[in-house]
Amino acid sequence: MKVYLDYNASTPVDKQVIKAMEPFFSKCFGNPASVHSFVERAKEAIEESRIKVATVINAKSDQIYFTNSATEANNIIIKGRLLFVDKDTSGIVSPRIITSNTEHSSIKNCLSKIIDDRARTGYGSLSWLNIGIDNLGNLDYELLDSMLNRVTKSDTNTILVSIITANNEIGTIHDLYRIGNICKKYNVLFHTDATQAIGNVTIDVDKMNIFALTMSGHKIYGPKGVGALYVRDKSLVEPLTDGGYQNTFVSGTQNVPAIVGMGKACELCNKEENIKIEQLRNCLLNKLTEEIPDLIINGTMVNRLQNNLSVTIPGISASILVKGMDDVIISGGPACESGDLQPSHVIEALGTPYPECAIRIGLGRKTTQAEIEFAANRIIEIVQSIRSK
Ligand code: PMP
Repeated sequence: MKVYLDYNASTPVDKQVIKAMEPFFSKCFGNPASVHSFVERAKEAIEESRIKVATVINAKSDQIYFTNSATEANNIIIKGRLLFVDKDTSGIVSPRIITSNTEHSSIKNCLSKIIDDRARTGYGSLSWLNIGIDNLGNLDYELLDSMLNRVTKSDTNTILVSIITANNEIGTIHDLYRIGNICKKYNVLFHTDATQAIGNVTIDVDKMNIFALTMSGHKIYGPKGVGALYVRDKSLVEPLTDGGYQNTFVSGTQNVPAIVGMGKACELCNKEENIKIEQLRNCLLNKLTEEIPDLIINGTMVNRLQNNLSVTIPGISASILVKGMDDVIISGGPACESGDLQPSHVIEALGTPYPECAIRIGLGRKTTQAEIEFAANRIIEIVQSIRSK
């Protein structure tokens, strides 16, 4: 048996998604930007996908822009917002962006690079404030409120609040209503990276006062290499690519099969299946804690993605466990950082001891009870064998 339990890193493409994509590789292959009749079906299919993507977050279809990934979408909103402010004549001289300290690397590294570049070249400024989490992964909402309060009393420099919807490592789901309301109170734009949350968390961009939102195809049983960015009002964000297409906001010939696949994946999102996934996740946790009583659960079990489990097994380094099992696929952290299996910034922010021993287990649509039992036994076996030496 080989058990894949890394669904937070990527999901297999659903068969219905593959079927929907197929005609757009070699039958309806024309460039959707062309004006001749050959590309009509491709154009229609893109617009149908836009509607399907918009529907899962209650947005309007003309507020959805397809990108090559969630990483690209996150870069567009951060850099595009800053570029807009740089060009704008509204008088903002000291822009600041507020994030949580547990954002995905595509937000964190994007901001670090901008700060470094600006310090090195002396061109422009940006301050980046971070809101911490408590030892269960919950955000300090009061701090967000007081940061904005302080800011708006003295200036209007906060150009964006960007807070992840559900953490990709420990699965903590943040309260988007509460963040949206705080941002509304101070008239600040709110972006959320919902890459892990789509299909798990109900999102309504209007009710939650969300200005921009990021998604990815391959986390929801769609293809890799496609993402989407919802933006309420694109006139407040400068495009990063020029060349036309998608209402001049995200340029480049559109990847029609991938876009169609992303739309289909959104259409197939079904929150009902999460009930079974959550039961399996809890069953795995119970089995592990029975045999490994000193196991530490990373993050809260209350507001958590149903498919996510992150635990620390004291004394058992994640790298040994992950590399030691070729029949149970789990991860030692986010896919982007697990190449070197360094303790992640999220686990460190939680303050859990032995951060190098944290593993992430992600369940999915196809996970079965038999797989869970097999995986639990394998993990327990390895832990006990290491500990007995
Ligand atoms: N944000 C989050 C929360 C993620 O989990 C990921 C994927 N690890 C990304 C962004 C990047 O997604 P993509 O692979 O589409 O670039």
